[in-house]
Amino acid sequence: MALHLIKTSTRKRKATVLLECPRCKGREVIEAKIGVEIVAGKPTGGTKVLLCTGCLREGQRVTLA
Ligand SMILES: [Zn+2]
Repeated sequence: MALHLIKTSTRKRKATVLLECPRCKGREVIEAKIGVEIVAGKPTGGTKVLLCTGCLREGQRVTLA
């Protein structure tokens, strides 16, 4: 009788959560960049942030990630 080895996945399961605004519970986001430099005429670098569109419409800046 052959011995069957059952491979167990060693990969860690990635935790998945739905991005939600803590203020308005909205799930629509836009990506903004802060501190972009123009190098040889091209926008380069900068820090990306996700902003809630719902709050942004009301003049609130809520960063999500
Ligand atoms: Zn919001």
